[in-house]
Amino acid sequence: MTFWRQPLDRDRIFIPFGIVHIIEERCKGCGFCVEFCPQDRLMMSERTNSKGYHPPEVTEHADCVNCGLCALLCPDFAIYVEDGGLVSPDRIDPVHRKEE
Ligand code: SF4
Ligand code: SF4
Repeated sequence: MTFWRQPLDRDRIFIPFGIVHIIEERCKGCGFCVEFCPQDRLMMSERTNSKGYHPPEVTEHADCVNCGLCALLCPDFAIYVEDGGLVSPDRIDPVHRKEE
């Protein structure tokens, strides 16, 4: 989406960037992390772990903003986020949610 007007301080504002790590063998495929990620950064994969569950995987169409919600919600400590520093807002895509 292209905005017709940009904030005046846009070049001075930076956004956190996160690097998502998934420990697939701990995952039980509950999907909490996928459901609640505000950036739609995660999706359930087609793979199965040794327990037969589908772990999540990161998507390419959105970036992680290091909010930490997925790690907080995961009941099995199977996902965590590494601080990737601050990046320009141009680096982060806005969320594109499907219309209901
Ligand atoms: S840290 Fe936040 S934005 Fe990043 S994958 Fe987890 S829930 Fe999504
Ligand atoms: S919240 Fe944890 S256990 Fe549930 S799907 Fe995500 S990584 Fe797997």
